[in-house]
Amino acid sequence: MKTYGVEIQSFQVPKKCKCNLCDRLEKIDKRLVLWHENQVVGDLLLCNPCLEVFEKIVRGEEQVIQEWNFQGGVV
Ligand SMILES: [Zn+2]
Repeated sequence: MKTYGVEIQSFQVPKKCKCNLCDRLEKIDKRLVLWHENQVVGDLLLCNPCLEVFEKIVRGEEQVIQEWNFQGGVV
């Protein structure tokens, strides 16, 4: 059983900041959170183009991607 996970979390209010991947100043409304054994090991603020690329990579590795709102909580 895999103990790693990747989650995409949406901000309620997008904020303008640097994308962690391409370093452009963009309006960021999602972040990617990396989990390992129920602990967050890191997160990345990604602009939309980078997020799309990242999603494809992660899907290729057969990990689970979830859309997750803070209001929704953890399943
Ligand atoms: Zn980017």
